[in-house]
Amino acid sequence: MVMLYQPPIPAEYSRLSEPELADRIIAHKKTFGDRLVILGHHYQQDDIIRFADLTGDSLKLSQLAAEQKNAEFVVFCGVHFMAESADVLTDDNVAVLLPDLSAGCSMADMATLDQLEEAWARIANLADAKVIPITYVNSAASIKGFCGQHDGACCTSSNARQILEYALSRGEKVIFLPDQHLGRNTAYAMGYPLETMVVYDPATENGGLTDEQLREAKFILWNGYCSVHQLFTEQQCDEVRQSDPLCKIIVHPECKWEVVQKADQAGSTERIVKVLDEAPEGSHWAVGTEINLVNRMANQYTGRKLVQSLAGLQCLCTTMYRIDPAHLAWCLDELAAGRVVNRIMVDPETKKNARIALRRMLDHVQSKPVATK
Ligand code: SF4
Repeated sequence: MVMLYQPPIPAEYSRLSEPELADRIIAHKKTFGDRLVILGHHYQQDDIIRFADLTGDSLKLSQLAAEQKNAEFVVFCGVHFMAESADVLTDDNVAVLLPDLSAGCSMADMATLDQLEEAWARIANLADAKVIPITYVNSAASIKGFCGQHDGACCTSSNARQILEYALSRGEKVIFLPDQHLGRNTAYAMGYPLETMVVYDPATENGGLTDEQLREAKFILWNGYCSVHQLFTEQQCDEVRQSDPLCKIIVHPECKWEVVQKADQAGSTERIVKVLDEAPEGSHWAVGTEINLVNRMANQYTGRKLVQSLAGLQCLCTTMYRIDPAHLAWCLDELAAGRVVNRIMVDPETKKNARIALRRMLDHVQSKPVATK
């Protein structure tokens, strides 16, 4: 995994109690007022979400970042690719900060620009058809920039279908990065059989595919995945159905196709939140997504709706978890002292092209379930 180096923060932060850290953070929020906006991803721990001015999934946070016209500082409590997207979408005078630089994303790290350029050169040479590159927003700015430059776009799990429709209106073939599962689940839900898809593995010679396979495929799916969502299994779905026949299963489309097929619904994080919110009192839900969000919803609905994780084990995004109150307090203390730390800056050329890809994504916002049983 590509991990940015986060220098250790001063030892005093580990000695501060939770209330002391909270007091500092709250005091800074008051002092900075509208100049500071804290964005919190749904997968953040409660100890961070309580300080967020705005919360959401990656799509919603991208939209919110783009709307920040008065803020000078956006502190992004999420992971590195999200902070990059915020930097791309905000004006140049807005500084985007990530409280802990080691908060990366294993999926985003599974596709590098060198690998994509190598794959692209081969595919473009082989295919008579026009190929459109589409990247899930969970990717590096350089990958987004490549897509923007080649008539492609970004997507999120909320609008992957709309973006694939966009891609197929502009070309005959799609290369989808980095999450093979989101690509497969979405294309399948659109009516394309699995036989129209191949998986390109950048770690294998020639991507592990023959020229003929590449020529015939409609969808070339990059061999990437989310280390959290791949922990959900078909067996867990079977066990839930057996132990509680009334329980509905809802999963994120980063889960494997087999799991999505067994679930009652699949949808983005924001959609999962909405479905549970609108679910009738007394309903039972097994949820296949990150544990901080599942636990938060389970607490929120205690006594009204039964919400539990689909997995018996804790499916935690460990990199997201690196953002803790100590790092947030340190980041704000430094800001108050006039030192901008951990600023995430995308170079101007990449920014220009990544903005094209992200803008196309934002132009196709419409939350729909990716797949239903
Ligand atoms: S949950 Fe998965 S895709 Fe999302 S940030 Fe964590 S590792 Fe990346």
